[in-house]
Amino acid sequence: MNTAVAATLALAASAAPALAESMRIFPNGSRPSVKGPEATFTGPVRVDMQFAAPESRVSAGHVTFEPGSRSAWHTHPAGQVLIVTSGTGWVQEENGQKREIKPGDVIWTPPGVKHWHGATATNGMTHLAITETVNGKNVDWMEKVTDEQYAK
Ligand code: MN
Repeated sequence: MNTAVAATLALAASAAPALAESMRIFPNGSRPSVKGPEATFTGPVRVDMQFAAPESRVSAGHVTFEPGSRSAWHTHPAGQVLIVTSGTGWVQEENGQKREIKPGDVIWTPPGVKHWHGATATNGMTHLAITETVNGKNVDWMEKVTDEQYAK
C-alpha cells in the first residue's frame, strides 16, 4: 500500500464517529395491531405498524381495508409510497379517476397531492404504506370520502 492511501485510510478511521447505538430487532408481534380511527377512515381498517419514529424518519405500516373501507381524503408533506401486498383496491387523486390497484403495484403520491386509498366495494386490500415525517407529521387529514365519491 502506498503512503498516500495508508494516510487516507488512517484519516477515515480516526474520523469515524463513536457508535452510540446498536442494531435492534423488533420481533414480529411486538407492535400490537391498531384500529384505523373513525375520524380518518370509513369502515373497518387495521393498521400494523412496522417501524416509525423515533427510530427512523421514515415510517411503514401494513394497512388492511375490509371491502368498502377507505381512508379519508388527505395529503402527505413528503409524499407516500404504497406497495399493495394482497387483495384489490382503489386509489384516487383529486380531479382524477378512481384507479384499481393490485398486489405488486407500487403507487407514488407526490407531496401535497390530495388523495385517498382503500379496498374496492367487493374485495379487501392490504398495502404497505411508507411515509417520511416532516416537522413531526407524515399526513394531513381532510374530509371523509363520501359514498357517492367512492362509488363513482
Ligand atoms: Mn396516502
